Amino acid sequence: MATKKVKEQARKVLKDVFGYDSFRPMQEEIICALMDGKDAFVLMPTGGGKSLCYQIPAIMREGTGIVVSPLISLMKDQVDALNACGVSAAYYNSSLKAAEAKDVLERFESGKLDMLYVAPERLLSKAFLAKLQKLKLAMFAVDEAHCVSQWGHDFRPEYVRLGELREIFPDVPMLALTATADEHTREDISERLQLAKSQRFTASFDRPNIRYLVAEKRQPLTQILQFLDGWQNCSGVIYCLSRKRVEDLAVNLQRHGIRAAAYHAGIPGRSREKVQDDFLRDRVKVIVATIAFGMGVDKPNVRFVIHHDIPKSIESYYQETGRAGRDGLESEALMLYGSGDVNLVRRLIENVENIDQRRVEVHKLNSMVAFSEALTCRRRVLLGYFSEPLDHSCGNCDICLDPPKTYDATELAEAALQCVREIKGHFGMGYVIDVLRGSNNARIKEHKHDKIKSHGAGADINADEWTSILRQLVHHGYFMQDVSKRAAMLATKKAEHIGTGDPIMLAKYQPGIRRQFKRLGMARDELLFKKLVALREEQAEKDDLPPHVVFSDVSLTEMSQKQPADVAGMRLISGMGAHKLEEYGDVFLALIKKHSESKASKKTKDNGKDIPMLIAKGPGLNETQTYTLALHRKEGLTLAQNAAQQGVSEVTVLRHYVAIIRAGQYIDVPAFIGKDFETVMNELTDADPYASLTEIKADLSVELSNEEFRLVLAWREAIGVA
Ligand code: ADP
Ligand code: ZN
Repeated sequence: MATKKVKEQARKVLKDVFGYDSFRPMQEEIICALMDGKDAFVLMPTGGGKSLCYQIPAIMREGTGIVVSPLISLMKDQVDALNACGVSAAYYNSSLKAAEAKDVLERFESGKLDMLYVAPERLLSKAFLAKLQKLKLAMFAVDEAHCVSQWGHDFRPEYVRLGELREIFPDVPMLALTATADEHTREDISERLQLAKSQRFTASFDRPNIRYLVAEKRQPLTQILQFLDGWQNCSGVIYCLSRKRVEDLAVNLQRHGIRAAAYHAGIPGRSREKVQDDFLRDRVKVIVATIAFGMGVDKPNVRFVIHHDIPKSIESYYQETGRAGRDGLESEALMLYGSGDVNLVRRLIENVENIDQRRVEVHKLNSMVAFSEALTCRRRVLLGYFSEPLDHSCGNCDICLDPPKTYDATELAEAALQCVREIKGHFGMGYVIDVLRGSNNARIKEHKHDKIKSHGAGADINADEWTSILRQLVHHGYFMQDVSKRAAMLATKKAEHIGTGDPIMLAKYQPGIRRQFKRLGMARDELLFKKLVALREEQAEKDDLPPHVVFSDVSLTEMSQKQPADVAGMRLISGMGAHKLEEYGDVFLALIKKHSESKASKKTKDNGKDIPMLIAKGPGLNETQTYTLALHRKEGLTLAQNAAQQGVSEVTVLRHYVAIIRAGQYIDVPAFIGKDFETVMNELTDADPYASLTEIKADLSVELSNEEFRLVLAWREAIGVA
């Protein structure tokens, strides 16, 4: 049992080292399990905060924590990030020169490392295992554990032998982590890594900060440029189906002045690495890529992911969109949906030789199509696919933001249910629709389904609309499509309520383009944020680090909101551990100070507007006039409020205003008079120099009170035009 003390210590490390105030869901439980010496299998979405689950126990437990990670580039990033927090960590892989490797091993053997990142093939070499057996180990963490499974999306043969660790080191706790959402792969991982007895920690796979948008693909380049307009200077990834599309789009974006780069497997390794690095270091903003891009990139502030073409499966879609918003800030996933692309993918699938595999891929694509055409909350469909029910609509997808019109479809659902029951569960959606529409094709005749009651029951509705209706009924859980039986339509238990319970409301089918949506926006001082980003870049350059390692966008956003004035305030910023505070605290504080000073001085300049020099034409202010000015300036009271506050008439206060201007003190008269101000000024300039003031006033095209008129005259004098 983890004691209260362990929890306290863990919280202290969280705050002191990483600068965070509280744990994310599951983190504390996982840390406690490891501190107890137990194994754990962690299923958490990208951005869920998996790293801390092993980093904190590695710091707290005696000995070194060994982290197995598949990609060399990721190891370096993680180690850089840990070092920036003052944690003693290193990596050991083939990228190190002999002398560097020797140095790392020496530090490891002398017990100076809290964490060592190792590539699996290095770890499992005889010599290294022998070394490990002599040393004190805090734990093993297997990151990206799905690499062990052939079912996963990134199988790596060198991962397979990791199961041996459990036998060789029975007393060292082991943690496996993955963001894989499908159950099949999870089971496989658990078996291969011998984690059967370990505790499973499953977090929600929802990514609430990602807004899902699907748009009908019409003019993709224009649509993408429009979308990018809303994300200027932000980082994002655009996925395309083919290398050719990647290259064309990248060139087109560059022509439109966007710092974009292409990335696909046909580009030589060196150049690919450079593209990744440029992206990580914010030199390139938009990556246009085939699916080859992503695994090796752990960039927390990717603000958007666009699918130029439909992905092959919901798994891929979830995975790829998941690369947006790891830092938890507002992000968007846009997919351009075109039926031509669907056919293209279908043709690719037809080339798959293995029949079973082909069938699975067809079904996966169909699910993806259904998602794209869904009229129910996207998040609901997405999470439902991974068996995580969402019992409310999310409010942050295109469907929720602009709900399609609904209607009572109970009778149609009844017809569909009757049909599915009558044809007895061996036929797909297309067949059901044919029967409902009363088709007399050969297959229907062969099965004598032209004789059943539901045959022709929905003849007045076209096939596209029926598809939409049946898909919605599937999304709502009344029917399911059985993969093992060629996606046969089956009624679920819930279908028993069709016609007996509440009316079934479905969304009206309407093919067409969807609108663009206003983003929530992050409430922050954008100017200061920009300055902070520039300073971060400068510091990152100096220390040869990716900018997000210096500070995350979350930290900078908080700085721009709270604008801390001293070290104590800075310490409260999320992500501000002791080491970073020492390293960067002062420079960032200085910048914030300078910014708020310039803002304060601008304030006396009346919201940043330039104030003309006023020439004093009258005596100084008496006490009541001074009070009026104070109420006007410091409290920002309007004329009426000012009068009420002093218990005098508005005319009196206006007379004070005139005196104030004549004393050379500023009141924003143009704003006070409003839209007619310029007209009045021009007419006064053109006025007959021999006319009396009463006559001039009477000639004005704008009606002013005597006091307002005198105020304008005083203003003209004070700015020197009269
Ligand atoms: P994953 O590996 O699951 O994708 P990470 O470990 O990279 O996620 O964490 C994602 C982001 O969330 C990182 O920027 C990390 O610093 C931040 N983070 C993790 N845990 C916390 C926490 N308890 N409080 C605030 N931020 C956190
Ligand atoms: Zn939604």
